[in-house]
Amino acid sequence: MPEPPSVKPVFLASACLLGLCTRYDGKIKTDKACLHFLQDCTIIPFCPEQLGGLPTPRTAAEILHGDGYDVLQGRAFVHTQEGDDITSAFVSGAKQVLQLAQLQAIDGICLKARSPSCAVSGTIGVTAALLTENGYKLHEF
Ligand code: SF4
Repeated sequence: MPEPPSVKPVFLASACLLGLCTRYDGKIKTDKACLHFLQDCTIIPFCPEQLGGLPTPRTAAEILHGDGYDVLQGRAFVHTQEGDDITSAFVSGAKQVLQLAQLQAIDGICLKARSPSCAVSGTIGVTAALLTENGYKLHEF
């Protein structure tokens, strides 16, 4: 009897870690450690800021008066360096990443550090906060 095909783990990953052009500054910065971690996995890339409707490149942004959890609760905001409020785009993108994660069984999610959307440590980003609230296992690179 033939052996059943091996099933690869399925991971979602911040697209910029994979070398895709999604960063705010339009630069390509592949994360070798993340690629190594995912080498035997099925990878589904995402960028919450693009999914939220923001262009690439775009003005750098930061969370004001709190973290990603506070943004989701309406207690904090995401502003560009020029002072534009882009909170709704960040929340919309986070919800779409959650929707993507819920489409199939996944084994984990790799997220980019130091991002107002994707960071897990330090000031947690909006998308990372929403994924944490929904019980997903997060790995930060
Ligand atoms: S850190 Fe997240 S939001 Fe920023 S470019 Fe990468 S995937 Fe997109």
